[in-house]
Amino acid sequence: MSTQTLLGALRAIVGTGHVLTAPADVAGYAEDWRKRYRGAPLAVVLPGSTDEVAAVVRRCHAARAAIVPQGGNTGLAGGATPDGSGTQIVLSLRRMRRIRSLDAADRVLVAEAGVVLAEAQRAAREAGLLFPLSLAAEGSATIGGVLATNAGGTAVLRYGNARALCLGLEAVTAQGAVWHGLSALRKDNTGYDLRDLLIGSEGTLGILTAASLALFPQPAARRTAWVAVPDLAQAVALLGRARDALDAGLTGFELMGAPCIELVARHFPALRAPLPAGAAPWFVLLELSDSESEAHAQERLEAVLGAALEAGVAGDCAVAASLAHSETMWAIREHIPLAQAAEGLNIKHDLAVPVSRMAGFVADTAARLQRLLPEARLIVFGHLGDGNLHYNVQAPSGADSEAFRTRWEGPCNALLHEAAVAAGGSFSAEHGIGMLKTGELARFKDPAALALMRGVKQALDPQGLLNPGKVLTAV
Ligand SMILES: Cc1cc2nc3c(=O)[nH]c(=O)nc-3n(C[C@H](O)[C@H](O)[C@H](O)COP(=O)(O)OP(=O)(O)OC[C@H]3O[C@@H](n4cnc5c(N)ncnc54)[C@H](O)[C@@H]3O)c2cc1C
Repeated sequence: MSTQTLLGALRAIVGTGHVLTAPADVAGYAEDWRKRYRGAPLAVVLPGSTDEVAAVVRRCHAARAAIVPQGGNTGLAGGATPDGSGTQIVLSLRRMRRIRSLDAADRVLVAEAGVVLAEAQRAAREAGLLFPLSLAAEGSATIGGVLATNAGGTAVLRYGNARALCLGLEAVTAQGAVWHGLSALRKDNTGYDLRDLLIGSEGTLGILTAASLALFPQPAARRTAWVAVPDLAQAVALLGRARDALDAGLTGFELMGAPCIELVARHFPALRAPLPAGAAPWFVLLELSDSESEAHAQERLEAVLGAALEAGVAGDCAVAASLAHSETMWAIREHIPLAQAAEGLNIKHDLAVPVSRMAGFVADTAARLQRLLPEARLIVFGHLGDGNLHYNVQAPSGADSEAFRTRWEGPCNALLHEAAVAAGGSFSAEHGIGMLKTGELARFKDPAALALMRGVKQALDPQGLLNPGKVLTAV
């Protein structure tokens, strides 16, 4: 089938206006959020329904055209970017943004894949319920994207990652069949779990078109505190105390190194930190959700922080006095990646390390990195409650950040990934593999697991047409 025949067929399925080929129209789909990868798609196709997705996939399958699924294009591993061959179809789910249903009694929301995460949260909130998945890119990231990457974010500590919040899926297979798996059940042991297979598969095993998502009660009150901690070991100790005292009430525990706060202050001066960045080497953003009342929440938080201050685990702290104050605290945390992007290219790491080993891990690796690159800045922050750090290496002030990244990415990756794996951790906690970490997957993953993954890919997508070059390098 010629290229023109394929494009004509795709136009007939989704409508001429929903097949983009002009360079200016496809530009935003051809480059990733970090501006690290840029591809050249044959076309960007925007179907409006599951049937259209299935018809597009069947056409592409017949033409042996590769498909790169894309949601909000906020992924950080290059998973949604086409290659430079000019032959791949970017299949954008952005037009599929309908909330199909919300059942308050069963606490289930059914959303199409292109629904933006913040919209799903809003729909739940309007029904008096909570969809707790939360991350800084929630204004653009889609339900399909967060499930395809099994995203984490700031509420995993209490509610789990995207996988834990998904009850069922609707998906289109590599051959263009529709799997109707939108279960609302909490229990369903009927054979292999295809839902969990597709979640986290980064568009390489199927195209997600809709999901049923678990909802939770809205807390009666929320309290946010910004705490200075003298060192990382004390931050871990504070986490232990907060967990013991607050149990499921602890819904957020984010760690930020002082250089992160300085970077946000430089690029977003309107966001004023509750404590000066120089007050401590590390800060914790702690959130308590309480099912009883504001007064009960306040009392519990004060008890934890008071005891931590007395024990020297925490230094100074500020408790948000209003919703606006709490939102500013969260905005500072969420602006760290944006401030980093504004500062220039950097070497990103998304590490998981058991919480009990975190302080030793950071002390050891920071010392080694400092010996290797004395002028580089370590921008370390993340979801300490989940043992997940974004351990980023930023070029020295004023240096050419592109040249720095090109020269030092390999050595920094080797140092940090090896150390994380040696500490019983992972080189990819929540961002996935995409095309950024295929080499690391081949290097670090258990060989038997890798062979099984290849077998699964071969069984579901024998032609290798779904997101080739992502996760696994070859079928
Ligand atoms: C500022 C910022 C902060 C972030 N913070 C976090 C965080 O705290 N925690 C976290 O986990 N992540 C975080 N991320 C990254 C996160 O992975 C993405 O934001 C999100 O999960 C991807 O959603 P998306 O719709 O943008 O997907 P895209 O970027 O479009 O795609 C991501 C991957 O999913 C695949 N995909 C997308 N849609 C579908 C579909 N419908 N069917 C099959 N495959 C599909 C793509 O092919 C690609 O492999 C952050 C990103 C940014 C920019």
